[in-house]
This record gives sequence, structure tokens and C-alpha cells, in this order.
Amino acid sequence: MSDNEIDEIKERIAAEARVLHPRLIGMSHTIHENPETLFQEHKASALLTDELEEHGFDVQRGVAGLDTAFVATYGSGEPVIGILAEYDALPKIGHACGHNLIGTWGVGAGIILRRAMPDLKGTIKVIGTPAEEGGGGKVTMAEAGVFNGLDAAMMMHPRDHTYLDRGSLAVTPYEIEFFGKPAHASSSPESGVNALDAMLQVFFSINALRQAFKPNTRIHGVITHGGEAANVIPDYTAASILVRADDQAYLEELNAKFRKIVEAAALATGAEAKITEGLSYKQRVCNTALVETFGKNLDALGVEHEVPPAGAGVGSSDIGDVSQLVPTIHPYMQICEPGIGGHTREFAVAAASERADELTATGATALAWTAADVLLRPELRDQLKASFREQLGRDPA
Ligand SMILES: [Zn+2]
Ligand SMILES: [Zn+2]
Repeated sequence: MSDNEIDEIKERIAAEARVLHPRLIGMSHTIHENPETLFQEHKASALLTDELEEHGFDVQRGVAGLDTAFVATYGSGEPVIGILAEYDALPKIGHACGHNLIGTWGVGAGIILRRAMPDLKGTIKVIGTPAEEGGGGKVTMAEAGVFNGLDAAMMMHPRDHTYLDRGSLAVTPYEIEFFGKPAHASSSPESGVNALDAMLQVFFSINALRQAFKPNTRIHGVITHGGEAANVIPDYTAASILVRADDQAYLEELNAKFRKIVEAAALATGAEAKITEGLSYKQRVCNTALVETFGKNLDALGVEHEVPPAGAGVGSSDIGDVSQLVPTIHPYMQICEPGIGGHTREFAVAAASERADELTATGATALAWTAADVLLRPELRDQLKASFREQLGRDPA
């Protein structure tokens, strides 16, 4: 297909986004006003799937054993494009990560593609991925093979800067518990086993290890149970700890060291340790060819973007697991003034501001244009695969 023909289709996509704009704002606000935390996103999931169904998508609800996950499909055969939607909120502070916008952008992009390309050759899948904030919905869905065979996977996250390409760290979450023996802390401390000493030892040992960390390594945590009273030797303590690294291989090395630290603290104090390991997220690798394509589309939409400052800290996200399977992008779109960080009350306000509302159509268009490029340009699909092989040293799943 010629560039002119593709440009005409993109014009139609943008026009459909303008038509759909009030509805996109409505979706974003309804999700924002009804924040639901991990795996409880029943209202958001119902809203988004109803919307997709109404626009001709074939919706499968409850994917990979997750009630609030979904796959909405339009078209058939190859190529296959995955547009991801998140819609979970944070406890207490609601949509402070702006996932109401991620859900709206993803579903909006699918709908406007469908409306602008009623006879498309290929398949559009809008994939609803619950519980990004701690539940790792995408990890479970990746293990179930939901993302296998996608030519491209894409989503967009709101923040205080527009970035095309930004990685994330691999992470393993832990719950650590120590079981000791209570005793009077003054009259008979020698007959107790101090579970708090064991826990403190874990934190001290992590700090001792810190000098030998490779760059970008993070191990951090909080003590969630430290004891009952100052005059009782604590017989039970608990902590939540996250171990993060640049890549999966080094994360595994760190995990082994971390377990030894916990076991050593048990040995030193006589307390019994219990280690509960949660779902790990893999590191995020953004596909360079797909990043470039998305960047050109943002340029055409007049959206300025920045290169993230070198050495700036990053977090972790379950899109990492998707990016390890198929060519993936996870760009960020600026919705507020720089300095308003995610996971704050200020960011929750920004996620339903006039500026964010305005960007519901722009964001959906940027994703839909990028999906159209992948659908309509066979040579781009080859480039995505070539980038994937170069960056990850293997073929896409
Ligand atoms: Zn978040
Ligand atoms: Zn987020």
C-alpha cells in the first residue's frame, strides 16, 4: 500500500477519534470515579468490554483464569496487533497511576481502528490486563500464551513527561517472616528468641551487600510487623521486600543472595524464617523499530517528546513480561506539569483533568496510527522482528 493510501487511512482514524472523543472522556471519568484495585476491576472491565462489543468486537471475558482480564478481537488472520488496556487503581489514592487513561487509550484505539478500517486484513486484539499494581496480570496472561503470535504489542502510560523509550527493572517481591519465642524483655530475655533481631539483621545485611550491587540494583522494603510491646521479646516479625535488577539473570543471582541473607539471620538468632516469593516481573525492553514508528506518529500529531535523562531511576511493570515475548512499546504521555509524580494524590487529580481529557483522543490516535503502520506495512513487521532479535537474541514467541 502506498504512503498516500496509508495517510488517508490515518486521516480517517483521526476523524473517528474526534467523533468518539466525548465517549472517551466519559470512559476515562467513569473508571476514574470508580477506582478498583487489583483483580477487583469488575466495573471497569465490564464498561470497556461492553464498549468494545457495541463496536463490533468479539469479546472473551475471564482470560487466563483472571475474571477481570479480557481479549476483544476484530478481523482475522495475520498480522495480529495487540493493544493493551490497564484499568486497576491503587488502594486509598484511587487512579494515582492514571490507568483510567491507559484503559481508555487502548480501547479507544481499537474502536477507532475498527471504524476507520472496516475491511482490514489482519486482526486487532484489545487485551485487558488487570492488576498491574502488584498482581502481575500480564505475567499470568503471558504464561497462558495470550501474547504469543502478536506482531506488535503496545500500550501507553500517562506521566509528567512524554517519553518514547524507557526501560524498567526486573523485580521479585518477597514476604519475609520470623518466628521466635516470647519472653519478659527485662527479667528473662535469655529465655526468648528475638524475631525482631532476625529481621533487623536482614536489613543490615542488605545494606552491607549494597556496596557490591551492579548499577540500577534496588533492594528495599518495610517491616510490617515489628513486635507487640517493648517489654516483650518479639516472637513474630514480618516484612515486605522488593528485589530489583536490570535483567532477569542478575535478578536470579540477587534472589539467591537475598535468600541466604534471610537464612543467615535465622541461623544467627535462632528464629525460624519463612520466605514467601511473589510473582516476578521481567525487565522491559522496548522494540527500537516500533519506538521509532510511534515517535514519527507523535511528531505528525504535534506531540513533543523528550529523551529520559540518563541515569534516571525507573520502576518495574508487568509489561516487561510481554516485551520479552513479542515486539512491544510502552511510551509515556505527558498529562501534567513536570514534577507531579505517579502514585500521588496530585497525579490522581491530573488523570481526570481537562488536559488529560483532551489527550484521550490524541493518545488513542497515536496508538491506532502505530497499529495501522504495523498492519499495512509488511516491511515494518520485518523490521520489528529484526529489532527483537537484535535486542533479545531470539525470535519473538
Ligand atoms: Zn503505578
Ligand atoms: Zn501505572
